Amino acid sequence: MRIRGAVLERIGAQAPFTESRPISVCDLELAEPGPGELLVRIEAAGLCHSDLSVVDGNRVRPVPMLLGHEAAGRVEAVGSGDSDIAVGQRVVMTFLPRCGDCAGCRSEGRMPCVPGSVANNEGVLLNGGSRLRRDGERVHHHLGVSAFATHAVVDRRSVVPVDDDVPPEVAAVLGCAVLTGGGALLNSAKPGPNDRVMVVGLGGVGMAAVLVAVSLGVPEVIAVDTVPEKLASARELGATAAYTPAEVTEKGVQAEVVVEAAGNVRAFETAVGATAAGGTTVTVGLPAPDARASISPLALVAQGRSIVGSYLGSAVPSRDIPAYVRLWRAGELPVERLVSAHIGLDQINRAMDELATGHALRQVIVFD
Ligand SMILES: [Zn+2]
Ligand SMILES: [Zn+2]
Repeated sequence: MRIRGAVLERIGAQAPFTESRPISVCDLELAEPGPGELLVRIEAAGLCHSDLSVVDGNRVRPVPMLLGHEAAGRVEAVGSGDSDIAVGQRVVMTFLPRCGDCAGCRSEGRMPCVPGSVANNEGVLLNGGSRLRRDGERVHHHLGVSAFATHAVVDRRSVVPVDDDVPPEVAAVLGCAVLTGGGALLNSAKPGPNDRVMVVGLGGVGMAAVLVAVSLGVPEVIAVDTVPEKLASARELGATAAYTPAEVTEKGVQAEVVVEAAGNVRAFETAVGATAAGGTTVTVGLPAPDARASISPLALVAQGRSIVGSYLGSAVPSRDIPAYVRLWRAGELPVERLVSAHIGLDQINRAMDELATGHALRQVIVFD
């Protein structure tokens, strides 16, 4: 079928993207879903820093690539064979498929799925190959999802079904920001009842971590970012204190659990430095592959501190997304408050600029 989608043409374009225009919105040919795959009409797709990391070349991926990995939509067709998913079902996309049968999948979320990671690096679906063509030329999938488009073909193992009462934009944000930011706390750090929680880096993932910390009833939730508007937003979402990184160092602010969600070395060092004795730093950001940080091994030993890496919040999406839905339904996780703008597909380059300057929280592309 013919679809319309946002294709990244080349890696490493310079901002402003409204001028360099690395992404074109164009018509593509989408193949039928194969066995174990689904055709999904996209309803909402969030712009995440990981999309920007492909555009600016921090994460090198094959191009041309149809971007977008945080999304929700309705199933329009099911590939051949038995499926537990019916046409009409609303689904949340998740950006790392789980084959269910490898060492990573057997680690209860602690490690990424091995074939899922390989497929993501190659820009193909879990069963191999691309379902996207443009003028006969292959276009790669982004993280098995490619949701900046009117429709997507995805593997069943890349989605989690949700009920119709979960609005598309809420469902979308659950799939990356909340799964990652929430998982950093619920799966990786597991804060105790008296632990303070600090979040360094207030993008979508960091803000989601703030929301989840507030929903857990954490007594002190400390938000850290360089952008003053983001500190104000974090307070509105329930953070009990908000600081710039410089203030954290100056005042010696500490927490037992510190989540690093900025994806750069200075934020990582700030997070490690602000972790209290006996505490845990959880790092979920994705810095450039050649980035190196400086930390004191002795301080880790002498103060009994830990540093934990957490990809996708060490989540098992089929287990964790229903849990977040229950919290959302109970009014304890107002995920819709993370959405700062609704945009059209054609505004994608401008939206990447907004993301790059650090002023946007979650911009969501909506389709009619
Ligand atoms: Zn993401
Ligand atoms: Zn696996």
